[in-house]
Amino acid sequence: MKNLQFLSEASKILSSSLDYNTTLDSIADLVVTNIADFCIIDLLKEAGEIDRVTVKVADPKKQKLAQRMFNYPPDPKNKDAIYDTARRGRPILIVKATREWINNVSRIPGEHEVIRKLGLNSHIFVPLKSRGKVIGVLTIASSNKDFSYSRSDVVLVGELGARAGIAVDNARLYSEAQEAVRARDEFLSIASHELKTPLTSILLQLQTVLQKIRNNKSLYVKKDNYRSNIISMLESTEYQSKRLAKLINDLLNISLVSIGRLELQPERVNLSNIVEDVIRNSEIQFKNAGYKIHVKTDKEIIGRWDKVRIEQVIINLVSNAIKYGNKKPIDIIARKKNNHAELIVKDRGIGISSTHQKHIFERFKRAVSGVEYRGLGVGLYISKQIIETHKGKIELKSSIGKGSTFTVKLPLKI
Ligand code: ADP
Repeated sequence: MKNLQFLSEASKILSSSLDYNTTLDSIADLVVTNIADFCIIDLLKEAGEIDRVTVKVADPKKQKLAQRMFNYPPDPKNKDAIYDTARRGRPILIVKATREWINNVSRIPGEHEVIRKLGLNSHIFVPLKSRGKVIGVLTIASSNKDFSYSRSDVVLVGELGARAGIAVDNARLYSEAQEAVRARDEFLSIASHELKTPLTSILLQLQTVLQKIRNNKSLYVKKDNYRSNIISMLESTEYQSKRLAKLINDLLNISLVSIGRLELQPERVNLSNIVEDVIRNSEIQFKNAGYKIHVKTDKEIIGRWDKVRIEQVIINLVSNAIKYGNKKPIDIIARKKNNHAELIVKDRGIGISSTHQKHIFERFKRAVSGVEYRGLGVGLYISKQIIETHKGKIELKSSIGKGSTFTVKLPLKI
């Protein structure tokens, strides 16, 4: 294989995966089929130690013997060529491995024996570098007694080392970024869970107080209409608390989806009852926003679903119909159709263009500006995840200026 072809093959391998252990293994294979009889790749760890990632040999009969090199990772106490290469950040060429040189680099008898049995002669050690730092060492060796590597071979292997260094560094950064995202989602899930508990209790107490005041006519004071003022203040607090609860729920669910922990707790429920409960609880929201709403539900739509999560999907769809519905009437239908339950939320508002329709079920994707319409862009993403975890579907029909119809289909049994 010509040098350029070799490097282009190496680049292909290096960009094929973000798992650097597998990638470096393939690079070592490429090395031993083209330019060497033996190849080792070592990576530096945080504490300055070295991690032996791969050991390969051209002759398959010697692979078992070569694997023993995993038992002899470079020792900083020895005058080790691998450590030397890492420390200096420059390649080392050993034209011929003399007995003295081998004695020097391998003082452990076992290692000495492996090198001798493999018959390793000429060596090249090159640093794997990225962002100006050495992150590992690539070692290649030939077992031909009459062959020696030259300066131009060092340049070629140096090029390979530079490419491999960048690939390993990118893979490490990627895995660190993944870990940071996972830690963030874990934190979000704990934080939103903690926020939810006191808020649920506040909301319950608020609704009890509101109910008591509504029932207690004696609180009425003619002059300043005391009772109705208190009622409207409490209603507004209830409305804001529900908004807060929805936001916290969205945060909790999005983090649970991300860390793969959106678990369902299915129970026997009547979809019509869930829809009616949500509508009853959203009455103030409808009233404040000036909406007329038509609700039509079959008497019984019994299935096994996670009540709280289905409730959340309905809240998301209904809140969106209110937010984007241009104050025109909203229809909500729940019915049984063949072997599934169907929930339809139809508004006659701003609508969604066909380009945006493809994306609004994705995380953080919105079809409107944040200045005009507030929102996190996660409600539909979560709703879709919840419905799909129930083995159902969520569909959308919409056209700009005419409105949107969201249809949820749920199997009656999951
Ligand atoms: P949010 O409403 O918080 O932005 P969602 O995930 O619920 O997040 O919705 C994503 C986007 O889909 C919204 O930003 C909006 O552009 C669009 N959208 C959702 N429901 C409707 C609707 N009923 N009418 C028009 N656009 C909608």
